[in-house]
Amino acid sequence: PLRISKAGNRLSTATGIFELMDDLGHAMTGPGAGRMRMLGGGAPAAIPAVQEVWRRRLAEMLADPGQVDKVLGVYDAPSGSPAFRSSVAACFRRELGWDITEANVAVTAGGQAAFFQLFTLLGDATQPIVLPIAPEYIGYADQGAAPGLFRTHHPKIEEIGDHDFKYHVDFDNLDLSGAGAVCISRPTNPSGNVLSDTELARLTDLARAEGCPMVVDNAYGQPFPGAIFTPASPPPWDDQMILVYSLSKLGLPGTRTGVVIASEEVARRVAAMTAVIGLANNNTGQAIVGPMLDSGEALTLSRDVIRPFYEQRAQLARQILADAFGDAFPYRVHLTEGAFFLWLWLPELPIGSRELYERLKARDVLVVPGDYFFFGLPEGDDWPHRRQCLRLTFSQSEQTVREALEIMAEELRALHD
Ligand code: PLP
Repeated sequence: PLRISKAGNRLSTATGIFELMDDLGHAMTGPGAGRMRMLGGGAPAAIPAVQEVWRRRLAEMLADPGQVDKVLGVYDAPSGSPAFRSSVAACFRRELGWDITEANVAVTAGGQAAFFQLFTLLGDATQPIVLPIAPEYIGYADQGAAPGLFRTHHPKIEEIGDHDFKYHVDFDNLDLSGAGAVCISRPTNPSGNVLSDTELARLTDLARAEGCPMVVDNAYGQPFPGAIFTPASPPPWDDQMILVYSLSKLGLPGTRTGVVIASEEVARRVAAMTAVIGLANNNTGQAIVGPMLDSGEALTLSRDVIRPFYEQRAQLARQILADAFGDAFPYRVHLTEGAFFLWLWLPELPIGSRELYERLKARDVLVVPGDYFFFGLPEGDDWPHRRQCLRLTFSQSEQTVREALEIMAEELRALHD
């Protein structure tokens, strides 16, 4: 029998996220896939005006054979293309006034890889990565070569009106002692929460007092793709911040391009890890987007097309949900302040969210059961809220969202009767 190492076993065993992604993948590719209403994934929507821009950029690149040969035929330095890193630094200097240079920028094979590198660099069981709010992004859950990487906290819940709610950091019970880093996705996947400027500033001060970095995951954040629907400033820059960006939600997940902005030391270490893991990065996304950072088009596209598109989808999905659910059973939806999801809380759900997921799948509706997003909580944590939530993507067509929510309403009415 194969003698698997501890770390190897941890990373290759059927983890929750792997099982779920596999299950979603099969449901979408197996027989009957055509009938599936996919409210499960986190892929960006196919926005025609955005797709048109990528096609135009590829055509521009093809018209310049020297450039194509270079993009396809040459390894970049592990830190990323020098031109792209300069464009990133110049864009943030110009737009946000950050005092950074290309030495503060490291490119990675997507945000997910960036987090694997950063969490491995900064955290372990003796210096945890502190997550101030559960639920937090599912993709972090099984990262780290050893268990016990995260110290996650319950949020404070503000109930708003009959059907809304919002999470806040519970500063009274936040424990940063011995932390390797503090990390938050902003907007948060899955909840759509956007930590307020004041909350972020307070967290950052606490991290500074503890002597550890403050990591902000801007996968949906400003300035690109800018899927934030509430007044919130981009995080302020200083050497203690680690800011992670991605080209994925801009519409280029296939290019696998992540961007880390951090102190020169952290950027250098992330680049060194890229060399160990994969020599260099994919440079297609960098080549497509670099000139759009220089011209400002990446930001106007985000502001004028991407943000309004998702904001409108969010409002529409919320309206469809309200119409479909009525007042037949208690429910709340997290304020959708950003990202691509409705986060549904069913406080009197008589079954767990995973069982609800199975029932909905049997009716050709795919969602993500919420309990995957509650990881790193103290052992034995039995917070009922963990089993009462679902994540629903609203980037699909109006018809798909409407059909899915109507079926869900039927299931939920039957369950609550
Ligand atoms: N962070 C958050 C909050 C995400 O939602 C995602 C993708 O869904 C990622 C990071 C990683 O994305 P990628 O690896 O495509 O950049």
